[in-house]
Amino acid sequence: TRVSNHLFSLIRSRMPEAGKPFLTLADGSGFDYGAVLAWSGRYANALRGYGVETGDRVVVQVEKSPQAVFLYLACLRAGAVFVPLNTAYTKAELDYFVGDAEPRLLVCAPEKADELGEIGTRLGAAVATLGSLGDGSLTEVAKAAPESFDEVTRGEDDLAALLYTSGTTGRSKGAMLTHGNLASNALTLADYWRFSQTDVLLHALPIFHTHGLFVAINTTLMAGSSLIFLPRFDAAEVLRHLPGATCMMGVPTFYVRLLQQAGLTAETTAHMRLFVSGSAPLLSETHEQWKARTGHAILERYGMTETNMITSNPYDGARVAGAVGMPLPGISLRIVQPETGEALPQGEIGMIEVKGPNVFKGYWRMPEKTKAEFRTDGFFITGDLGKIDDRGYVHIVGRGKDLVITGGYNVYPKEVETEIDGIPGVFESAVIGVPHADFGEGVTAIVVRKPGSTVEERTILQTLEGRLAKFKQPKRVLFVDELPRNTMGKVQKNVLQTTYRDLYARG
Ligand code: ATP
Ligand code: MG
Repeated sequence: TRVSNHLFSLIRSRMPEAGKPFLTLADGSGFDYGAVLAWSGRYANALRGYGVETGDRVVVQVEKSPQAVFLYLACLRAGAVFVPLNTAYTKAELDYFVGDAEPRLLVCAPEKADELGEIGTRLGAAVATLGSLGDGSLTEVAKAAPESFDEVTRGEDDLAALLYTSGTTGRSKGAMLTHGNLASNALTLADYWRFSQTDVLLHALPIFHTHGLFVAINTTLMAGSSLIFLPRFDAAEVLRHLPGATCMMGVPTFYVRLLQQAGLTAETTAHMRLFVSGSAPLLSETHEQWKARTGHAILERYGMTETNMITSNPYDGARVAGAVGMPLPGISLRIVQPETGEALPQGEIGMIEVKGPNVFKGYWRMPEKTKAEFRTDGFFITGDLGKIDDRGYVHIVGRGKDLVITGGYNVYPKEVETEIDGIPGVFESAVIGVPHADFGEGVTAIVVRKPGSTVEERTILQTLEGRLAKFKQPKRVLFVDELPRNTMGKVQKNVLQTTYRDLYARG
Protein backbone atom coordinates (compact mmCIF):
# COMPACT_ATOMS: atom_id res chain seq x y z
CA THR A 1 0.00 0.00 0.00
CA ARG A 2 1.45 3.33 -1.09
CA VAL A 3 1.53 6.34 1.19
CA SER A 4 -1.00 8.68 -0.33
CA ASN A 5 0.06 12.03 1.10
CA HIS A 6 3.61 11.50 2.25
CA LEU A 7 3.91 13.94 5.16
CA PHE A 8 0.31 14.10 6.32
CA SER A 9 -0.21 10.34 6.14
CA LEU A 10 2.82 9.88 8.37
CA ILE A 11 1.51 12.43 10.84
CA ARG A 12 -1.93 10.81 10.79
CA SER A 13 -0.59 7.30 11.22
CA ARG A 14 1.23 8.38 14.36
CA MET A 15 -1.55 10.46 15.84
CA PRO A 16 -2.64 9.71 19.40
CA GLU A 17 -6.30 9.24 20.32
CA ALA A 18 -8.65 12.12 19.53
CA GLY A 19 -8.95 13.39 23.09
CA LYS A 20 -5.20 13.90 23.60
CA PRO A 21 -4.37 17.64 23.85
CA PHE A 22 -2.48 19.02 20.87
CA LEU A 23 -2.18 22.65 21.79
CA THR A 24 -2.92 24.77 24.86
CA LEU A 25 -3.09 28.56 24.71
CA ALA A 26 -1.97 31.00 27.39
CA ASP A 27 -5.53 31.25 28.78
CA GLY A 28 -5.76 27.47 29.21
CA SER A 29 -8.12 26.86 26.29
CA GLY A 30 -6.95 24.62 23.50
CA PHE A 31 -7.48 21.95 20.86
CA ASP A 32 -7.08 18.21 21.00
CA TYR A 33 -5.86 15.89 18.24
CA GLY A 34 -9.44 15.22 17.18
CA ALA A 35 -9.78 18.92 16.47
CA VAL A 36 -6.53 18.91 14.49
CA LEU A 37 -7.97 16.33 12.14
CA ALA A 38 -11.40 17.97 11.95
CA TRP A 39 -10.17 21.53 11.42
CA SER A 40 -7.46 20.64 8.92
CA GLY A 41 -10.16 18.76 6.99
CA ARG A 42 -12.54 21.71 7.12
CA TYR A 43 -9.86 24.16 6.00
CA ALA A 44 -8.82 21.78 3.22
CA ASN A 45 -12.41 21.77 1.96
CA ALA A 46 -12.53 25.56 2.28
CA LEU A 47 -9.32 25.84 0.21
CA ARG A 48 -11.05 23.89 -2.55
CA GLY A 49 -13.85 26.44 -2.39
CA TYR A 50 -11.34 29.18 -3.17
CA GLY A 51 -10.15 27.26 -6.21
CA VAL A 52 -6.92 25.98 -4.67
CA GLU A 53 -5.67 22.99 -6.65
CA THR A 54 -2.76 20.60 -6.27
CA GLY A 55 0.56 22.48 -6.51
CA ASP A 56 -1.00 25.92 -5.97
CA ARG A 57 0.73 28.22 -3.52
CA VAL A 58 -1.20 29.55 -0.54
CA VAL A 59 0.46 32.61 0.98
CA VAL A 60 -0.33 33.04 4.65
CA GLN A 61 0.58 36.20 6.55
CA VAL A 62 -1.19 36.01 9.88
CA GLU A 63 -0.38 36.30 13.56
CA LYS A 64 0.50 33.07 15.32
CA SER A 65 -2.67 31.10 16.06
CA PRO A 66 -3.93 27.51 16.18
CA GLN A 67 -5.95 28.28 13.04
CA ALA A 68 -2.74 29.05 11.18
CA VAL A 69 -1.39 25.62 12.15
CA PHE A 70 -4.60 23.94 10.96
CA LEU A 71 -4.35 25.87 7.70
CA TYR A 72 -0.77 24.62 7.23
CA LEU A 73 -2.00 21.04 7.68
CA ALA A 74 -4.92 21.72 5.35
CA CYS A 75 -2.45 22.80 2.65
CA LEU A 76 -0.57 19.52 3.05
CA ARG A 77 -3.80 17.54 2.79
CA ALA A 78 -5.04 19.51 -0.24
CA GLY A 79 -1.67 19.15 -1.97
CA ALA A 80 -1.12 22.91 -1.92
CA VAL A 81 2.19 24.59 -1.15
CA PHE A 82 2.17 26.48 2.16
CA VAL A 83 3.96 29.84 2.01
CA PRO A 84 4.08 31.57 5.41
CA LEU A 85 5.34 35.15 5.46
CA ASN A 86 6.88 37.13 8.28
CA THR A 87 4.20 39.28 9.94
CA ALA A 88 6.66 42.17 10.11
CA TYR A 89 6.90 42.54 6.33
CA THR A 90 6.05 45.97 4.96
CA LYS A 91 3.87 46.65 1.93
CA ALA A 92 6.92 46.80 -0.36
CA GLU A 93 8.23 43.49 0.97
CA LEU A 94 4.82 41.87 0.61
CA ASP A 95 4.65 43.10 -2.97
CA TYR A 96 7.91 41.35 -3.70
CA PHE A 97 7.26 38.07 -1.89
CA VAL A 98 3.66 37.65 -3.02
CA GLY A 99 4.69 38.47 -6.58
CA ASP A 100 7.47 35.90 -6.32
CA ALA A 101 5.26 33.15 -4.89
CA GLU A 102 2.34 33.75 -7.32
CA PRO A 103 -0.27 32.27 -5.02
CA ARG A 104 -3.77 31.10 -5.89
CA LEU A 105 -4.90 32.32 -2.47
CA LEU A 106 -3.65 34.92 0.00
CA VAL A 107 -4.68 34.56 3.62
CA CYS A 108 -4.13 37.49 5.95
CA ALA A 109 -5.22 39.18 9.15
CA PRO A 110 -8.27 41.48 8.83
CA GLU A 111 -6.07 44.61 9.27
CA LYS A 112 -4.07 43.59 6.21
CA ALA A 113 -7.07 42.86 4.00
CA ASP A 114 -6.90 46.18 2.10
CA GLU A 115 -3.19 46.06 1.53
CA LEU A 116 -3.16 42.43 0.44
CA GLY A 117 -6.45 42.76 -1.40
CA GLU A 118 -4.81 45.20 -3.77
CA ILE A 119 -1.84 42.91 -4.35
CA GLY A 120 -4.16 39.93 -4.78
CA THR A 121 -6.30 41.70 -7.37
CA ARG A 122 -3.22 42.68 -9.34
CA LEU A 123 -1.93 39.09 -9.35
CA GLY A 124 -5.29 37.43 -9.89
CA ALA A 125 -5.17 35.68 -6.53
CA ALA A 126 -8.12 35.22 -4.19
CA VAL A 127 -7.81 36.97 -0.83
CA ALA A 128 -9.31 35.77 2.45
CA THR A 129 -8.88 36.81 6.04
CA LEU A 130 -8.13 34.01 8.46
CA GLY A 131 -10.39 35.82 10.89
CA SER A 132 -12.75 34.21 13.30
CA LEU A 133 -16.28 32.87 13.30
CA GLY A 134 -19.09 35.11 12.14
CA ASP A 135 -17.06 37.47 9.97
CA GLY A 136 -17.16 35.86 6.53
CA SER A 137 -13.54 34.82 6.88
CA LEU A 138 -11.82 31.62 5.80
CA THR A 139 -12.45 30.27 9.29
CA GLU A 140 -16.16 30.98 8.87
CA VAL A 141 -16.17 29.15 5.54
CA ALA A 142 -14.23 26.27 7.08
CA LYS A 143 -16.68 26.00 9.96
CA ALA A 144 -19.47 25.30 7.49
CA ALA A 145 -17.39 22.79 5.51
CA PRO A 146 -17.31 19.04 6.16
CA GLU A 147 -14.61 17.59 8.42
CA SER A 148 -13.76 14.75 6.14
CA PHE A 149 -11.35 15.28 3.31
CA ASP A 150 -9.59 12.75 1.10
CA GLU A 151 -5.91 13.63 1.01
CA VAL A 152 -4.41 14.46 -2.36
CA THR A 153 -1.66 12.04 -3.33
CA ARG A 154 1.74 13.63 -2.74
CA GLY A 155 5.03 11.78 -2.96
CA GLU A 156 8.31 12.44 -1.23
CA ASP A 157 9.50 14.70 -4.01
CA ASP A 158 6.42 16.93 -4.19
CA LEU A 159 6.49 20.42 -2.70
CA ALA A 160 4.97 20.90 0.74
CA ALA A 161 6.14 24.43 1.46
CA LEU A 162 7.93 27.40 0.07
CA LEU A 163 9.77 28.98 2.94
CA TYR A 164 11.65 32.24 2.64
CA THR A 165 15.05 32.39 4.37
CA SER A 166 15.58 34.89 7.19
CA GLY A 167 17.21 37.54 5.00
CA THR A 168 20.18 37.91 7.33
CA THR A 169 22.69 38.24 4.50
CA GLY A 170 20.52 39.89 1.86
CA ARG A 171 17.12 39.43 0.29
CA SER A 172 15.33 36.27 1.46
CA LYS A 173 15.26 33.38 -0.98
CA GLY A 174 12.35 30.96 -1.38
CA ALA A 175 13.43 27.46 -0.38
CA MET A 176 11.39 24.66 -2.01
CA LEU A 177 10.80 22.04 0.67
CA THR A 178 9.31 18.68 -0.21
CA HIS A 179 7.10 16.29 1.73
CA GLY A 180 10.16 14.02 1.95
CA ASN A 181 12.42 16.78 3.33
CA LEU A 182 10.00 17.71 6.09
CA ALA A 183 8.99 14.16 6.96
CA SER A 184 12.54 12.86 7.27
CA ASN A 185 13.56 15.83 9.38
CA ALA A 186 10.62 15.52 11.78
CA LEU A 187 11.08 11.77 12.18
CA THR A 188 14.79 12.19 12.82
CA LEU A 189 14.33 14.93 15.41
CA ALA A 190 11.46 13.21 17.23
CA ASP A 191 13.65 10.16 17.57
CA TYR A 192 16.97 11.88 18.33
CA TRP A 193 15.51 14.20 20.95
CA ARG A 194 13.29 11.39 22.35
CA PHE A 195 9.94 13.10 21.88
CA SER A 196 6.97 11.07 23.09
CA GLN A 197 3.28 11.44 23.84
CA THR A 198 4.12 12.54 27.37
CA ASP A 199 6.04 15.61 26.16
CA VAL A 200 4.73 19.15 26.26
CA LEU A 201 6.78 21.62 24.23
CA LEU A 202 6.75 25.25 25.27
CA HIS A 203 6.36 27.12 21.98
CA ALA A 204 7.13 30.86 21.98
CA LEU A 205 8.69 31.07 18.49
CA PRO A 206 7.13 32.64 15.39
CA ILE A 207 5.59 30.11 13.01
CA PHE A 208 6.67 31.64 9.70
CA HIS A 209 10.21 30.30 10.15
CA THR A 210 11.65 26.78 9.93
CA HIS A 211 12.44 26.73 13.67
CA GLY A 212 8.94 27.42 15.02
CA LEU A 213 7.10 25.65 12.21
CA PHE A 214 9.01 22.57 11.15
CA VAL A 215 11.45 21.91 13.98
CA ALA A 216 8.90 22.56 16.70
CA ILE A 217 5.48 21.73 15.26
CA ASN A 218 6.29 18.88 12.87
CA THR A 219 8.37 17.17 15.55
CA THR A 220 5.51 17.54 18.03
CA LEU A 221 3.04 16.08 15.51
CA MET A 222 5.32 13.15 14.62
CA ALA A 223 5.59 12.17 18.27
CA GLY A 224 2.00 12.90 19.26
CA SER A 225 3.28 15.37 21.88
CA SER A 226 1.54 18.57 22.96
CA LEU A 227 2.31 22.27 22.72
CA ILE A 228 1.95 25.22 25.06
CA PHE A 229 1.38 27.82 22.39
CA LEU A 230 2.36 31.36 23.43
CA PRO A 231 1.79 34.26 21.04
CA ARG A 232 5.38 35.54 21.35
CA PHE A 233 8.41 35.30 23.56
CA ASP A 234 8.07 37.08 26.88
CA ALA A 235 10.45 35.87 29.58
CA ALA A 236 7.99 36.25 32.47
CA GLU A 237 5.21 34.52 30.52
CA VAL A 238 7.50 31.65 29.58
CA LEU A 239 8.46 31.17 33.22
CA ARG A 240 4.81 31.25 34.22
CA HIS A 241 4.03 28.41 31.79
CA LEU A 242 7.16 26.36 32.39
CA PRO A 243 5.57 24.14 35.08
CA GLY A 244 3.27 22.60 32.45
CA ALA A 245 6.05 21.90 29.95
CA THR A 246 8.71 19.22 29.59
CA CYS A 247 10.76 20.77 26.77
CA MET A 248 11.50 24.15 25.26
CA MET A 249 12.98 25.25 21.95
CA GLY A 250 14.37 28.73 21.54
CA VAL A 251 16.80 31.07 19.90
CA PRO A 252 19.79 32.19 22.01
CA THR A 253 18.17 35.50 22.99
CA PHE A 254 15.38 33.55 24.76
CA TYR A 255 17.98 32.02 27.04
CA VAL A 256 19.77 35.32 27.62
CA ARG A 257 16.50 36.98 28.64
CA LEU A 258 15.36 34.11 30.82
CA LEU A 259 18.65 34.33 32.71
CA GLN A 260 17.69 37.88 33.67
CA GLN A 261 14.64 36.51 35.52
CA ALA A 262 15.10 35.82 39.23
CA GLY A 263 12.46 33.09 38.94
CA LEU A 264 14.73 30.93 36.79
CA THR A 265 16.20 28.40 39.22
CA ALA A 266 17.10 24.74 39.53
CA GLU A 267 13.75 24.24 41.32
CA THR A 268 11.59 25.92 38.67
CA THR A 269 13.26 23.89 35.90
CA ALA A 270 13.77 20.58 37.74
CA HIS A 271 10.86 18.91 35.91
CA MET A 272 12.15 19.91 32.46
CA ARG A 273 13.60 17.25 30.17
CA LEU A 274 15.18 19.31 27.41
CA PHE A 275 16.16 22.84 26.37
CA VAL A 276 17.15 23.26 22.72
CA SER A 277 18.81 26.29 21.12
CA GLY A 278 19.33 27.13 17.46
CA SER A 279 19.03 29.62 14.58
CA ALA A 280 22.00 31.65 15.82
CA PRO A 281 25.14 30.92 17.84
CA LEU A 282 24.64 30.36 21.57
CA LEU A 283 27.34 32.16 23.54
CA SER A 284 29.45 29.78 25.64
CA GLU A 285 28.82 32.11 28.54
CA THR A 286 25.05 31.68 28.18
CA HIS A 287 25.48 27.90 28.02
CA GLU A 288 27.59 27.92 31.19
CA GLN A 289 25.38 30.34 33.12
CA TRP A 290 22.32 28.27 32.25
CA LYS A 291 24.02 25.12 33.46
CA ALA A 292 25.15 26.77 36.71
CA ARG A 293 21.71 28.23 37.41
CA THR A 294 19.42 25.38 36.36
CA GLY A 295 21.61 22.28 36.19
CA HIS A 296 20.53 21.75 32.54
CA ALA A 297 22.96 21.74 29.63
CA ILE A 298 21.23 23.47 26.70
CA LEU A 299 21.30 21.26 23.61
CA GLU A 300 22.52 23.34 20.68
CA ARG A 301 21.76 22.30 17.14
CA TYR A 302 22.40 23.76 13.69
CA GLY A 303 20.32 23.97 10.54
CA MET A 304 19.05 26.23 7.80
CA THR A 305 15.78 26.89 6.02
CA GLU A 306 17.22 25.10 2.97
CA THR A 307 18.45 21.99 4.75
CA ASN A 308 16.27 21.60 7.82
CA MET A 309 18.33 20.45 10.78
CA ILE A 310 21.87 19.29 10.05
CA THR A 311 23.62 18.69 13.38
CA SER A 312 22.68 18.27 17.01
CA ASN A 313 24.58 17.91 20.23
CA PRO A 314 23.98 14.45 21.66
CA TYR A 315 20.97 13.68 23.82
CA ASP A 316 22.96 11.50 26.21
CA GLY A 317 26.59 12.45 25.61
CA ALA A 318 28.40 15.71 26.34
CA ARG A 319 26.70 18.88 25.10
CA VAL A 320 29.67 21.03 24.28
CA ALA A 321 29.45 24.81 24.68
CA GLY A 322 30.34 26.53 21.42
CA ALA A 323 29.76 23.40 19.32
CA VAL A 324 26.65 22.46 17.34
CA GLY A 325 27.14 18.71 17.74
CA MET A 326 27.35 15.91 15.18
CA PRO A 327 25.55 15.35 11.87
CA LEU A 328 22.08 13.91 12.49
CA PRO A 329 21.43 10.31 11.33
CA GLY A 330 21.16 10.01 7.56
CA ILE A 331 22.96 13.29 6.86
CA SER A 332 26.40 13.51 5.28
CA LEU A 333 28.47 16.54 6.21
CA ARG A 334 31.89 17.51 4.92
CA ILE A 335 34.26 20.43 5.26
CA VAL A 336 35.86 21.56 2.03
CA GLN A 337 38.13 24.20 0.61
CA PRO A 338 35.55 26.82 -0.49
CA GLU A 339 36.98 27.54 -3.94
CA THR A 340 38.01 24.08 -5.09
CA GLY A 341 35.54 21.96 -3.15
CA GLU A 342 38.37 19.65 -2.08
CA ALA A 343 37.88 17.83 1.22
CA LEU A 344 39.98 19.28 4.05
CA PRO A 345 41.74 17.32 6.79
CA GLN A 346 39.92 17.04 10.13
CA GLY A 347 40.35 20.14 12.26
CA GLU A 348 40.75 22.62 9.41
CA ILE A 349 38.31 25.42 8.79
CA GLY A 350 36.38 25.31 5.53
CA MET A 351 32.97 25.43 3.88
CA ILE A 352 30.29 23.19 5.39
CA GLU A 353 28.52 21.08 2.76
CA VAL A 354 25.66 18.66 3.34
CA LYS A 355 23.68 15.97 1.58
CA GLY A 356 20.69 13.96 2.68
CA PRO A 357 16.92 13.54 2.49
CA ASN A 358 16.57 16.75 4.50
CA VAL A 359 18.14 18.99 1.83
CA PHE A 360 15.73 21.15 -0.19
CA LYS A 361 14.92 20.87 -3.86
CA GLY A 362 16.28 24.28 -4.82
CA TYR A 363 15.52 27.99 -4.72
CA TRP A 364 12.12 28.94 -6.09
CA ARG A 365 12.43 30.51 -9.53
CA MET A 366 16.21 30.79 -9.16
CA PRO A 367 17.61 27.92 -11.26
CA GLU A 368 21.00 29.62 -11.69
CA LYS A 369 21.44 30.21 -7.99
CA THR A 370 20.30 26.66 -7.24
CA LYS A 371 22.86 25.30 -9.66
CA ALA A 372 25.60 27.42 -8.14
CA GLU A 373 24.88 26.23 -4.59
CA PHE A 374 25.06 22.49 -5.31
CA ARG A 375 28.20 20.51 -6.17
CA THR A 376 27.94 18.00 -9.00
CA ASP A 377 27.88 15.12 -6.48
CA GLY A 378 24.74 16.55 -4.89
CA PHE A 379 26.24 18.24 -1.83
CA PHE A 380 24.67 21.59 -0.91
CA ILE A 381 27.06 24.45 -0.16
CA THR A 382 25.68 25.92 3.07
CA GLY A 383 27.65 29.18 2.98
CA ASP A 384 28.70 28.56 6.60
CA LEU A 385 32.32 28.03 7.56
CA GLY A 386 33.19 25.49 10.19
CA LYS A 387 35.46 22.73 11.39
CA ILE A 388 35.16 19.32 13.03
CA ASP A 389 37.10 18.79 16.26
CA ASP A 390 38.86 15.57 17.26
CA ARG A 391 35.75 14.30 19.05
CA GLY A 392 33.64 14.76 15.93
CA TYR A 393 31.78 17.88 17.04
CA VAL A 394 31.07 20.50 14.40
CA HIS A 395 31.95 24.11 15.24
CA ILE A 396 30.47 26.95 13.20
CA VAL A 397 33.06 29.62 12.58
CA GLY A 398 30.71 32.03 10.84
CA ARG A 399 29.29 32.73 7.44
CA GLY A 400 31.53 32.73 4.40
CA LYS A 401 30.13 36.16 3.58
CA ASP A 402 31.34 37.53 6.93
CA LEU A 403 34.94 36.37 6.52
CA VAL A 404 37.24 39.38 6.81
CA ILE A 405 40.16 39.58 4.41
CA THR A 406 42.73 42.03 5.71
CA GLY A 407 46.12 42.59 4.14
CA GLY A 408 45.67 39.29 2.33
CA TYR A 409 44.98 37.31 5.49
CA ASN A 410 41.72 35.55 6.38
CA VAL A 411 40.23 36.50 9.72
CA TYR A 412 37.33 34.47 11.09
CA PRO A 413 35.16 36.91 13.06
CA LYS A 414 34.10 34.22 15.54
CA GLU A 415 37.67 33.69 16.73
CA VAL A 416 38.07 37.39 17.49
CA GLU A 417 34.56 37.64 18.98
CA THR A 418 35.26 34.74 21.34
CA GLU A 419 38.39 36.47 22.67
CA ILE A 420 36.60 39.79 23.10
CA ASP A 421 33.57 38.18 24.77
CA GLY A 422 35.90 36.70 27.38
CA ILE A 423 37.17 40.11 28.49
CA PRO A 424 35.63 41.27 31.79
CA GLY A 425 32.90 43.86 31.26
CA VAL A 426 32.07 42.69 27.72
CA PHE A 427 28.62 41.19 27.16
CA GLU A 428 28.91 40.39 23.44
CA SER A 429 30.56 41.52 20.26
CA ALA A 430 30.36 41.41 16.48
CA VAL A 431 33.48 41.59 14.36
CA ILE A 432 33.15 42.87 10.80
CA GLY A 433 35.35 43.93 7.93
CA VAL A 434 35.19 47.61 7.03
CA PRO A 435 36.72 49.00 3.81
CA HIS A 436 40.25 50.20 4.50
CA ALA A 437 42.63 51.84 2.04
CA ASP A 438 45.73 49.99 3.25
CA PHE A 439 44.37 46.61 4.25
CA GLY A 440 41.42 46.13 1.91
CA GLU A 441 39.30 45.49 4.98
CA GLY A 442 40.00 46.60 8.53
CA VAL A 443 39.02 44.22 11.33
CA THR A 444 36.47 46.15 13.38
CA ALA A 445 34.81 45.16 16.64
CA ILE A 446 31.38 46.35 17.70
CA VAL A 447 30.97 45.69 21.40
CA VAL A 448 28.08 45.64 23.87
CA ARG A 449 29.19 46.22 27.48
CA LYS A 450 27.71 44.43 30.47
CA PRO A 451 25.38 46.65 32.52
CA GLY A 452 27.48 48.98 34.68
CA SER A 453 30.73 48.16 32.88
CA THR A 454 32.99 50.95 31.64
CA VAL A 455 35.44 48.77 29.74
CA GLU A 456 37.21 50.85 27.08
CA GLU A 457 38.60 50.41 23.60
CA ARG A 458 42.16 50.68 24.95
CA THR A 459 41.70 47.86 27.49
CA ILE A 460 40.20 45.57 24.87
CA LEU A 461 42.95 46.25 22.35
CA GLN A 462 45.66 45.76 24.97
CA THR A 463 44.15 42.47 26.15
CA LEU A 464 43.96 41.14 22.60
CA GLU A 465 47.60 41.97 21.90
CA GLY A 466 48.85 38.95 23.78
CA ARG A 467 46.12 36.65 22.51
CA LEU A 468 45.70 37.14 18.78
CA ALA A 469 48.14 37.49 15.91
CA LYS A 470 48.60 41.12 14.88
CA PHE A 471 46.54 40.83 11.67
CA LYS A 472 43.53 39.52 13.63
CA GLN A 473 43.50 42.37 16.11
CA PRO A 474 40.78 44.96 15.53
CA LYS A 475 41.83 48.32 14.18
CA ARG A 476 39.00 49.90 16.11
CA VAL A 477 36.56 48.93 18.86
CA LEU A 478 33.21 50.72 18.91
CA PHE A 479 30.52 50.47 21.55
CA VAL A 480 26.78 50.12 21.06
CA ASP A 481 23.87 49.49 23.44
CA GLU A 482 22.74 46.44 21.49
CA LEU A 483 23.53 44.64 18.25
CA PRO A 484 21.02 44.88 15.39
CA ARG A 485 19.08 41.62 15.21
CA ASN A 486 16.29 40.31 12.99
CA THR A 487 13.15 38.58 14.28
CA MET A 488 14.99 35.27 14.67
CA GLY A 489 17.59 36.85 16.96
CA LYS A 490 20.31 36.79 14.31
CA VAL A 491 22.90 39.56 14.31
CA GLN A 492 22.58 41.57 11.09
CA LYS A 493 26.19 42.14 10.15
CA ASN A 494 25.16 43.77 6.89
CA VAL A 495 23.45 46.50 8.92
CA LEU A 496 26.68 47.04 10.90
CA GLN A 497 28.69 47.03 7.68
CA THR A 498 26.50 49.81 6.28
CA THR A 499 26.61 51.83 9.50
CA TYR A 500 30.40 51.77 9.72
CA ARG A 501 31.36 51.70 6.05
CA ASP A 502 33.07 55.11 6.16
CA LEU A 503 34.95 54.48 9.40
CA TYR A 504 38.37 54.34 7.77
CA ALA A 505 37.59 56.66 4.87
CA ARG A 506 40.23 59.31 4.37
CA GLY A 507 39.53 63.02 4.62
P1 ATP B 1 19.58 34.39 4.60
O1 ATP B 1 19.99 33.06 4.04
O2 ATP B 1 18.34 34.90 3.97
O3 ATP B 1 20.69 35.39 4.62
P2 ATP B 1 19.63 33.08 7.18
O4 ATP B 1 20.76 32.28 6.62
O5 ATP B 1 19.84 33.69 8.53
O6 ATP B 1 19.19 34.21 6.16
P3 ATP B 1 18.04 30.85 8.04
O7 ATP B 1 17.85 29.78 7.06
O8 ATP B 1 16.95 31.17 8.97
O9 ATP B 1 18.34 32.19 7.24
O10 ATP B 1 19.30 30.59 8.95
C1 ATP B 1 20.27 29.63 8.69
C2 ATP B 1 21.60 30.11 9.20
O11 ATP B 1 21.54 30.37 10.61
C3 ATP B 1 22.71 29.13 9.04
O12 ATP B 1 23.24 29.13 7.72
C4 ATP B 1 23.71 29.59 10.09
O13 ATP B 1 24.53 30.63 9.60
C5 ATP B 1 22.81 30.13 11.19
N1 ATP B 1 22.65 29.17 12.31
C6 ATP B 1 21.63 28.33 12.57
N2 ATP B 1 21.84 27.64 13.70
C7 ATP B 1 23.03 28.04 14.17
C8 ATP B 1 23.82 27.70 15.32
N3 ATP B 1 23.42 26.81 16.22
N4 ATP B 1 25.02 28.32 15.47
C9 ATP B 1 25.45 29.22 14.57
N5 ATP B 1 24.75 29.59 13.49
C10 ATP B 1 23.57 29.01 13.29
MG1 MG C 1 21.03 31.50 4.74
